[in-house]
Amino acid sequence: MTEAADPGLIQRKLRLLMELRRAGIADARVLGAIEKTPRERFVPAAFADQAYENVALPIDQGQTVSQPYVVALMTEKLEIGDRHKVLEIGTGSGYQTAILARLARRVFTIERHRELLQEAEARLAALGLHNIVFRCGDGSRGWPEQVPFDRVLVTAAAAEVPEALLDALATGGVLVAPVGRHPREQRLRRIRRLDNGFASEDLGAVRFVPLVSGVARAVREQT
Ligand code: SAH
Repeated sequence: MTEAADPGLIQRKLRLLMELRRAGIADARVLGAIEKTPRERFVPAAFADQAYENVALPIDQGQTVSQPYVVALMTEKLEIGDRHKVLEIGTGSGYQTAILARLARRVFTIERHRELLQEAEARLAALGLHNIVFRCGDGSRGWPEQVPFDRVLVTAAAAEVPEALLDALATGGVLVAPVGRHPREQRLRRIRRLDNGFASEDLGAVRFVPLVSGVARAVREQT
């Protein structure tokens, strides 16, 4: 349902924005991007009334759209500027992609499930976001033809940040990714590429679906 059809959505969105501010999200650009992005369009219809709850929600292919607080936190910690070229791994519903696209010059996003990618592409085009380039593939290999990137955001967890993604960073570039072998041990990490190496910071505990190698095979439901 759209905001015009359900005024309750606007109220719930404003409540969520207040909650994010209380939780420490201070960047007005990030809050503005969240305000402008209709999360109800990125979740299955059955969950649309929960679109502005501060919770992760299921999407197709057993994946999840992250909790709004985590989207806001990752975006804020990425320190995006409007001239930046951004690489995102794990398009999923495209919700995080929409937030990035409102703040950056261009977003390159990779998803291993073709169906998810196609749906995300249609949603983002319908929102008039055209500074996004989509690829179906294994994001842990990066996007070699497009390096370097000013910013890299990974929205699926691996035991280590893939080497190709660190290599993809420009000097002065920033990567944010969940890292950890087991879901209960995942930590959000921010890695900055310096002139002479990398500096890594811990940003707290998170819970993401795993980063999986290879492209997903199309599986048809048996009836
Ligand atoms: N950011 C998304 C949610 C991400 S869930 C959103 O806002 O909706 C993580 C996504 O990463 C899933 O869609 C999963 O299929 C994808 N993924 C996992 N491993 C991947 C890989 N190696 N390459 C590309 N995408 C991957």
